[in-house]
Amino acid sequence: MATLMCFHAHPDDEAIATAGLIMSASAAGHRVILVVATTGELGLDPHDGLDDGESLADRRRSETLRSAEILGVHRTEFLGYHDSGMNGDHRNDDPASFWQADIDEAAARLATLVSDETVDVLTIYDDHGGYDHPDHIQVHRVGTRFAQMAGIDEAYWATMNRDEIARQLAMVAELYEEEPPEVDTETFGMAETELTHAVDLGTFIDRKRAAMRAHASQIRDDSFFLSMRDEVFARAFGTEWFHRPGSQPGKEPIPITITFSS
Ligand SMILES: [Zn+2]
Repeated sequence: MATLMCFHAHPDDEAIATAGLIMSASAAGHRVILVVATTGELGLDPHDGLDDGESLADRRRSETLRSAEILGVHRTEFLGYHDSGMNGDHRNDDPASFWQADIDEAAARLATLVSDETVDVLTIYDDHGGYDHPDHIQVHRVGTRFAQMAGIDEAYWATMNRDEIARQLAMVAELYEEEPPEVDTETFGMAETELTHAVDLGTFIDRKRAAMRAHASQIRDDSFFLSMRDEVFARAFGTEWFHRPGSQPGKEPIPITITFSS
């Protein structure tokens, strides 16, 4: 049995970026730890409102625990930083924000949090956080430092396949005559030639969607993620892409995974 640790920026990122990897590792009998850097305090106000005395952070914490349960995570932790907001938001300057955290201090805090674990495989994000979100960039920087400190060789960058997204957007526009979502396919994620590993979800795609749905305050039923047809969703989210520095480009399975039947 090995231990997989997925390090994420906000509640819901685990479902969007690494649900398949988590489910496959858990189903294969490995231990899975989820660490979320912030509690997503700057997310959307829930459409059904907050309960008396409940904060958005409280709501998002419970949603994350539900998502983690669906995915088969064994342990969920929050690193305790504040959401920094999108790039350019004035709250990027908040001293409590993850973006303002000192890299060494944050990596040490992460190491202390999981000091009783032996992490074999770690996921962080690519070096521009997929789409330049400050908290996602910080996951890359802090996670890279943590991997060095903990001597973790198997560190994978969760990212998006920008070439596949460009192909899919063209296909959606042609097939359904729908206006595709606006994505800058020049800069989003990474180029296909830089990707080294992939996880195909197969029949586990429904549980990925269920985990997204657990984040109901942020990912609503009428959202881009949940309103698309099942077959479009399966195409868009049926493969999770990774880059591991030093590995050959390709679509290798991450060693800890099992392959789902599709
Ligand atoms: Zn995020």
